[in-house]
Amino acid sequence: MSNRQTRTDVILIGAGIMSATLGTLLKELVPDWEITVFERLANAGEESSNEWNNAGTGHSALCELNYTVEKPDGSIDISKAIKINEQFQLSRQFWSYLVNSNLIRNPQDFIMPLPHMSLVQGEKDVTFLKKRFEALSNNPLFQGMEFSDDPRKLMEWIPLIMKDRKSNEPIAATKIDSGTDVNFGALTRMLFDHLKSKNVEIKFKHNVDDIKRTSDGSWELKVRNVDSGTVERHTAKFVFIGGGGGSLPLLQKSGIPEGKHVGGFPVSGLFMVCNNPDVVAQHHAKVYGKAKVGAPPMSVPHLDTRFIDNKKSLLFGPFAGFSPKFLKTGSMFDLLGSVKPDNVLTMLAAGAKNVPLTKYLIQQVMLSKEQRMEELREFIPNAKSEDWDIVVAGQRVQVIKDTAAGGKGTLQFGTEVISAADGSIAALLGASPGASTAVFVMLELIKKCFPQHLKAWEPKIKEMIPSYGVSLLKNPELIHEIHTSTARTLGLAGKKQYAYAYA
Ligand SMILES: Cc1cc2nc3c(=O)[nH]c(=O)nc-3n(C[C@H](O)[C@H](O)[C@H](O)COP(=O)(O)OP(=O)(O)OC[C@H]3O[C@@H](n4cnc5c(N)ncnc54)[C@H](O)[C@@H]3O)c2cc1C
Repeated sequence: MSNRQTRTDVILIGAGIMSATLGTLLKELVPDWEITVFERLANAGEESSNEWNNAGTGHSALCELNYTVEKPDGSIDISKAIKINEQFQLSRQFWSYLVNSNLIRNPQDFIMPLPHMSLVQGEKDVTFLKKRFEALSNNPLFQGMEFSDDPRKLMEWIPLIMKDRKSNEPIAATKIDSGTDVNFGALTRMLFDHLKSKNVEIKFKHNVDDIKRTSDGSWELKVRNVDSGTVERHTAKFVFIGGGGGSLPLLQKSGIPEGKHVGGFPVSGLFMVCNNPDVVAQHHAKVYGKAKVGAPPMSVPHLDTRFIDNKKSLLFGPFAGFSPKFLKTGSMFDLLGSVKPDNVLTMLAAGAKNVPLTKYLIQQVMLSKEQRMEELREFIPNAKSEDWDIVVAGQRVQVIKDTAAGGKGTLQFGTEVISAADGSIAALLGASPGASTAVFVMLELIKKCFPQHLKAWEPKIKEMIPSYGVSLLKNPELIHEIHTSTARTLGLAGKKQYAYAYA
């Protein structure tokens, strides 16, 4: 036990993309605030934000079919797609600001241009895709989207998927070239390097064991050095619980009433990664399919070109699964430990409501490699087992809470910021659309937790993110300006040849 005690303005728990984004925003807004970060692992971006633990899609609803739902009258609801696209534009602007200001460098190390495609088979789904295309393609946020149900055109777009395809079922795809592959692990590390250069103290291998309120309204953290076991106390006026899957237990420890009646349901994932460079070279897109009946939205199958460690790779998945751990590096007792007297009924109700989901996840865990290969062969008909290895992805902890619409124990699939009424502590729960919308989510957190500073901070926020507070949809000229300027700064314009040469 050490007697070390420190006092600081802001503590960020966890060195993932969320803490990285909040820390970077706050350092720009109030450079003289002292910030300390505690991370239980040895490096930044090792959990869900790591490049091998997520799919690296810059989610902007260009290809994810679950963001556009068919309404009972047959029309397509695109409101969620618009929302997510607008949120991703905030991330692009903030990253561009950081590159333009030389605060981070070499954007090609974390973002690459890559066509985003949706692919469906069967008459019903082809009709759906066509309607979706018609609803989106006239919208300025989705400009440049193409549709084709002509197998020759599809052969040009996705040769690996079309080659040796025997089925006579109708098939169709949409393609939009302005999509991106984002290496969130690399971006997280860049942001923490930048924060370090701004004197932010980053304490790796330090686990936050407990959080409690002090008599003056600050928060005291009990922090354990993972190597030596020594325990320190650190106090801050504001605490962000950015522990990813580790956030829920810490929120519960804070005891804030807003954190009551909330539970978490962990969903694990697996990807298949291609080890044959000849196969990798034949594909150049993120191709999203339709979720199987009964599957949760996060397990929509997709075949993704990825750019990791200066190398082009090919990933397929994710296969969902069940593990009681809240973090990939967590404990088998995480789920059980999160059941508290205040959320036990919520958790039980969620359990009763989600029997089909639990069954689905258990089924997924039991799949053999050959069964997974069969799912992959729906995308690549002649995929060979020896060309593919299995990698374990990150854990997602879905939020369970009582809602007016869904009733007791409703499983949520989005992200959620839960904060104390006085804004002195906030936690981020949930995982989707995730890292892509980190800037939007952290700006919302700033709005909730620092309302007294917002007026003074707004000009700087607008300088960094010109579309902040503005509906892009209502300002099509701004969309064009932002697309063009961020593409130039982030190196996304005219990169097609380079991206192919990457293979
Ligand atoms: C399979 C999968 C695919 C995904 N695909 C995409 C995608 O394509 N696009 C996208 O935008 N998003 C995607 N996501 C979501 C995205 O990865 C997450 O939303 C994002 O990485 C979460 O960032 P975070 O900072 O909240 O959490 P993390 O990156 O998990 O960081 C939390 C950190 O907190 C640390 N920590 C936890 N508890 C403690 C403690 N008590 N003390 C100290 N440190 C602690 C952890 O070690 C970790 O480093 C995917 C996620 C998964 C699992």
